[in-house]
Amino acid sequence: MLRFNKLRLAGFKSFVEPTSLHVERGLTGVVGPNGCGKSNLVEALRWVMGESSAKQMRGGEMEDVIFNGTDSRPPRNVAEILLSLDNSERNAPAQFNDQDELDVSRRIERSKGSTYRVNGKEVRARDVQLLFADAASGARSTAMVSQGRIGAVISAKPTERRAILEEAAGITGLHSRRHEAELRLRGADTNLERLDDVLVTLEVQMKSLKKQSRQASRYRNLNDHVRRAEAALYHLRWIAAEAAMESSSQGLQAAHKQVAELTGRTSAAAAAQAESASGLPELRRAEAEAAAQLQRLVLARESLDQEEQRIGATRQDCQTRLGQVAADTGREEALAADAQTAGQALAAERGGIEADQQSEAAAEERAAAKLAAATGEANAADARLIELTERVAGDEARREALSRTGQALEERKRRLATRA
Ligand code: ATP
Repeated sequence: MLRFNKLRLAGFKSFVEPTSLHVERGLTGVVGPNGCGKSNLVEALRWVMGESSAKQMRGGEMEDVIFNGTDSRPPRNVAEILLSLDNSERNAPAQFNDQDELDVSRRIERSKGSTYRVNGKEVRARDVQLLFADAASGARSTAMVSQGRIGAVISAKPTERRAILEEAAGITGLHSRRHEAELRLRGADTNLERLDDVLVTLEVQMKSLKKQSRQASRYRNLNDHVRRAEAALYHLRWIAAEAAMESSSQGLQAAHKQVAELTGRTSAAAAAQAESASGLPELRRAEAEAAAQLQRLVLARESLDQEEQRIGATRQDCQTRLGQVAADTGREEALAADAQTAGQALAAERGGIEADQQSEAAAEERAAAKLAAATGEANAADARLIELTERVAGDEARREALSRTGQALEERKRRLATRA
């Protein structure tokens, strides 16, 4: 049998300060005026024993059990009730039956809900309810007789009375446990149904897995064949690779030989190149000299070209002058012919005059004068003719000389062109 030792309240309804109610052996009474909080103590007992209805606590919601302040005191956020039980007879359920005193507490915090503890260890509300149900007590127990409760029991229905009888027989806890066991059985039934479904699914999966296993064994067989074939293939490839390696090594040796030969040739070529490079400055100098000579020849050819142009111009000029000389000669020859004709006419006239001389002295004198004048003109014409003849001869000689110079220049030009 569990006995109440002490009830401690803090922040619960009107008990804002921590307050302890000691329940001693014998009868314990609480006396006070209306509204002093006597019913609050009974509610504290019910509440700590697991009352879940706020209405039973004379409130709208469970948080209303927390001290909600007065004109002079601010409200609290936490309410806690601790009920100490005497367990020296060790009647508590096995899980709590290891100590002589059980401290059952319930604590509520605003917007966080209730937590239950037994000897400081957090437990479920159901554990606390069962603890008191086994001890024929609890939040709704008929042992808790509140105002108007007696009348309610007398006028209760048979089913409600059954609860009182069960409680008196001390089997309320069993009833509650049976209900819990029924719930568990129902849960187990549901689980079994689920297991059937799972079994059906597993059978389907097993069929598919068997099929996969057959496929896997076929795959293994085929894989063995493939591996053997691959091994044979790799062996053949290895033999071919060996042969290829042999021929490659022979090729490598030949290549090494070729490399050695080519290296010898390269070094010979390098020596020849070095030798050639040593003769290169001489050749470069010769090339420079040849270039300078070519430059000189080009300049000489240009100057000869200019000279040729000058000679050509001079020759043209000479030819022009020769043409003029020829024209002058022709004219002078015409003049000489005229003078000869005039001389012949004068000679004929002289003959006439000489014939007439004897007849006329005057005529003789005039004729002598005419003769002298004609003679003078004839002499002048002769002198002129000689002079012209000499000029023609000089021009001819100069033409000859210029022609020879032109030929010599042609020859020189031809020689220079050949040298260039
Ligand atoms: P009666 O003999 O008339 O039944 P009582 O002594 O049983 O009266 P209770 O009904 O236990 O008195 O206490 C009521 C008092 O508790 C009221 O004064 C009320 O203001 C106060 N009270 C109830 N709930 C709270 C709360 N949450 N915070 C502060 N005070 C509260």
